[in-house]
Amino acid sequence: MTQSFAALLDLQRIDVELDRIRARLAALEAGEPLREIVEDLEETGRALDRRSRLLQTLERDAQREEAEAHELRAERERLEQRLYGGEIASVKEMEKMQERMQHLAETADAHETAALEAMEQAEELRPVIERLAARRRRLEGELARLRAELETEAKELRQQEEALAASVGPAREAVPPALLRDYDFHRRRRGGEVVALVEGDRCAACHVTLPVAVVNRVKKQERLETCENCGRLLAWLGG
Ligand SMILES: [Zn+2]
Repeated sequence: MTQSFAALLDLQRIDVELDRIRARLAALEAGEPLREIVEDLEETGRALDRRSRLLQTLERDAQREEAEAHELRAERERLEQRLYGGEIASVKEMEKMQERMQHLAETADAHETAALEAMEQAEELRPVIERLAARRRRLEGELARLRAELETEAKELRQQEEALAASVGPAREAVPPALLRDYDFHRRRRGGEVVALVEGDRCAACHVTLPVAVVNRVKKQERLETCENCGRLLAWLGG
């Protein structure tokens, strides 16, 4: 029986290791370890796009306001030339022109101020955009490195999986059929580690103290017992 238990534990070790490898491979194939950095990269890209568009708008605004101010000043200059060119005789008309010139100067100033404000905002935005662009480059580098690492890991895991899968058959053959039936039943029902060693008077999996009678039966190998607390099959390797 001790030998049978050893064979059963050996099979369990292989099955649990296969579970672990397959779960990790599934996570790798689903891109799970990359998720965080991919999300970070996408968010950084969106932030960078938003601010780049804002910068373009501000630069266009500044240009437009500047052009507007320039045009108004040119118009004012043309009026000034006419005013002092002696073409206008009427005092009333001269006053009207002066008023108009004053208005043009004020409006031009307002556009100039708007242009300066837009330029200032654009200046503040440039270092932010540079930082975001640098962050994106760094994240892209990290992602490429991580991807290569995970590909190597997946390749190694697939090799391990193949080797382990090949050892399942011989490992099962070494276990008596009755034990194997119980083991398979428990594995199907709850998965993971379904066989626990008895250590002293405790279940090594859940650490609960087992009834003396149960421990004795396991040790006498009268029949296959289960832990009342965690439901695992109990095995004893002697000693
Ligand atoms: Zn237990």
